[in-house]
Amino acid sequence: MHSNSQQPEKPDSSYDAIIVGGGIQGSGCAQALAARGFSVLLLEKNKLGTGTSRRSSKLIHGGLRYLETAQFTLVRKSLNERALLCELAPELVELKPFYLPIYKGYRVGPLKMWAGLALYSLLGSLRRDARFKRVPKAQWASLPGLKQQGLRCVYQYYDAQTDDQLLTRAVARSAQGLGAQIYEAATFHKATQADDGMVDVSYSQQAEPGDAAAGGQSVDRTARCKLLINAAGPWVAAVQEKMPFAMQGPDIALVQGAHIELDKPISEGIFYVESPDDARAVFIMPWQGRTMVGTTERRHQGDPADSRASDDEVAYLQRTLLHYFPDYQGKLVDQWAGLRVLPQPELHAAAAKRPFSRQARDTVVHCDNDDAPRAISLYGGKLTAYRVTARKVMRLASKTLGEGERDIDTDSLPLMRE
Ligand SMILES: Cc1cc2nc3c(=O)[nH]c(=O)nc-3n(C[C@H](O)[C@H](O)[C@H](O)COP(=O)(O)OP(=O)(O)OC[C@H]3O[C@@H](n4cnc5c(N)ncnc54)[C@H](O)[C@@H]3O)c2cc1C
Repeated sequence: MHSNSQQPEKPDSSYDAIIVGGGIQGSGCAQALAARGFSVLLLEKNKLGTGTSRRSSKLIHGGLRYLETAQFTLVRKSLNERALLCELAPELVELKPFYLPIYKGYRVGPLKMWAGLALYSLLGSLRRDARFKRVPKAQWASLPGLKQQGLRCVYQYYDAQTDDQLLTRAVARSAQGLGAQIYEAATFHKATQADDGMVDVSYSQQAEPGDAAAGGQSVDRTARCKLLINAAGPWVAAVQEKMPFAMQGPDIALVQGAHIELDKPISEGIFYVESPDDARAVFIMPWQGRTMVGTTERRHQGDPADSRASDDEVAYLQRTLLHYFPDYQGKLVDQWAGLRVLPQPELHAAAAKRPFSRQARDTVVHCDNDDAPRAISLYGGKLTAYRVTARKVMRLASKTLGEGERDIDTDSLPLMRE
């Protein structure tokens, strides 16, 4: 966001907090800290919101399927966040009708789905946007191109869709408006603990093409902070290795989820279906005048930067789409994959028994010292609940930084589209 020429040349700029990672979680933490009046530097090695936070399903939702794993608190908080984000960012978060067709042989039948939707509605405080209905049979034919054979019932409810990258950038810009320094093309390299209790951070920043003094090279810089926050998403373990603090984990599994994009729209609504291959939940969504389908899940090993949608995943998603919309003629125009960061299942007995899709979706937060942390690592969680993560981090941060000299409520800060 800042150009190099605007940045301080002082080698030892000092901050209350330095955040590594300009995805939604790092940006949300920067906004929350800056709202309290803390000085914040956020380092993002690429552009803001170009990691997982632009490869999600782009839903701002409670997560109907998390009810099956009894994640009621997460669903309730996410539904509250959905309502708030619709207000704060009306250009970026838009309520959409979701259609849930139920066919013969589905894993979840009409009665169980009704109960799930009723609970979802209750957790959404029975607000107008939490209502659902059964679509009368006479109207099924108007659901554009949806396979009618074997259809037993269709429910319609509401959740929201966003542009995940633009939302992330809007949150970062809000943090910047509150005084946070946000540097793009700035790669964290290493932290060391100084004798005076501060954390020294070294990072490099790519010079801008016109920066003659830097000769087009990246420039090495240092900065100091009282608290270092690792919000590096799939790189959380790599960053933590460079932090000299005695901390738990992170013991993580990276789970890839792919999406495909096809050139013709189907509907303004979002269809939530079961894959004919393995009964997993798949969304068929409108996206910028086209259609997006996702997602898959497969364990990813190796460098997070190497995550790509495989031919198998693309074929799986195309098969699902054509199963429900057999006459759809759109052509594949794009495919991508993102990485969920989940606790390593082998290390967690309860999780080991569940497929990845049924594991907890709460953000995991670790620190070096619960009483006065110098370092915090966070991973996982949902785009929707980034403010919930920021609140968790703030509770820990305040043990080191105090309460802050002001208390601007992020509940009332509008988020603007670029
Ligand atoms: C397939 C898929 C679908 C999803 N769908 C949804 C959904 O519909 N709704 C929802 O609510 N959630 C969804 N999620 C979850 C959501 O997308 C993630 O929880 C969220 O985007 C994670 O954000 P993050 O900030 O932790 O990570 P990221 O967005 O990956 O950000 C981490 C950042 O750290 C930077 N970084 C790494 N190392 C360094 C370094 N050394 N120096 C500087 N910067 C560094 C990276 O460049 C990156 O930008 C989905 C996730 C996946 C994978």
